[in-house]
Amino acid sequence: MSPRGSIKPTGTPSAEPRPDLRALPGPLGAHVSSAGGSAEAPPRADAVGATALQLFTKTANQWKEREVAPDEAAAFRAAHAAAGVAFAVAHDSYLINLASPDAGLRARSLASFRAELRRSEALGLDAIVSHPGNYMDDRDAGLARNADAIAEALAAEPGRVRLCLETTAGSGTALGRTFEELAAIIARLPAAVAGRVAVCLDTCHVFAAGYDLVGDYDGVWARFDDALGLERLAVLHLNDSQGALGSRKDRHAGIGEGHLGEATFARVMRDPRLSRVPKLIETPKGDDPETFDRRNLGRLLRLAAG
Ligand SMILES: [Zn+2]
Ligand SMILES: [Zn+2]
Repeated sequence: MSPRGSIKPTGTPSAEPRPDLRALPGPLGAHVSSAGGSAEAPPRADAVGATALQLFTKTANQWKEREVAPDEAAAFRAAHAAAGVAFAVAHDSYLINLASPDAGLRARSLASFRAELRRSEALGLDAIVSHPGNYMDDRDAGLARNADAIAEALAAEPGRVRLCLETTAGSGTALGRTFEELAAIIARLPAAVAGRVAVCLDTCHVFAAGYDLVGDYDGVWARFDDALGLERLAVLHLNDSQGALGSRKDRHAGIGEGHLGEATFARVMRDPRLSRVPKLIETPKGDDPETFDRRNLGRLLRLAAG
């Protein structure tokens, strides 16, 4: 299924056609690399036909922080405007743990998270997608610490960028395995900042966490609506799942290449409740990001049309 065996030289035209996603009712795109600088991300999104993008605003697996200088912000905004991308979000660093009981790690996470908010604001992004942390000791205490740290960060970094709490596969002590856990975090936020907080649902994560989008599609959305309200849904991450239902494995697969299958993504793409919610793929890119992203986005476009 994937062109294995040789790495495509950079600059070689992709054999995969660029899908035209502009006719869809809502933005659809991919997580794209910001190698070479944040302004390189919008043209990469444009090259795969995307009308939405997600990027890292720093090296995601390192603590080292940076600020966005005015010239970088201007370059990114110009590239963003030129690319025809309607919706742009950052994904925060995987190291941040705002639920940690360890005072040192909490302080470091809070500083890092505040820097993420500042960079996203400087770039003019719509939102920042963030995983709840790991509770380590006690789940309820972890939820409270996570909420209090979010409240502190948002109060300290005012702005228009929204925070989207992402559902997780729930491995180990990761919070965010259930819709109720995200609701508990949001419920603890002061009203002054709660309005800036929304939810990102990742199809792979919720399936791995035990929500059966294959066998009980409408039931899963009813549970989401009960716990959080569909109006809280600001972003969808569309990833197929290598792990089985309830496996707690956060292993993304290409659209139609995992346990969710094309039929589930057809339901998502044709669901009128979700039609305007921005959608992003974070599917494996193999040895050729442009070709793989075009292929997966092309599949979603085809499934939307029926
Ligand atoms: Zn994520
Ligand atoms: Zn995700």
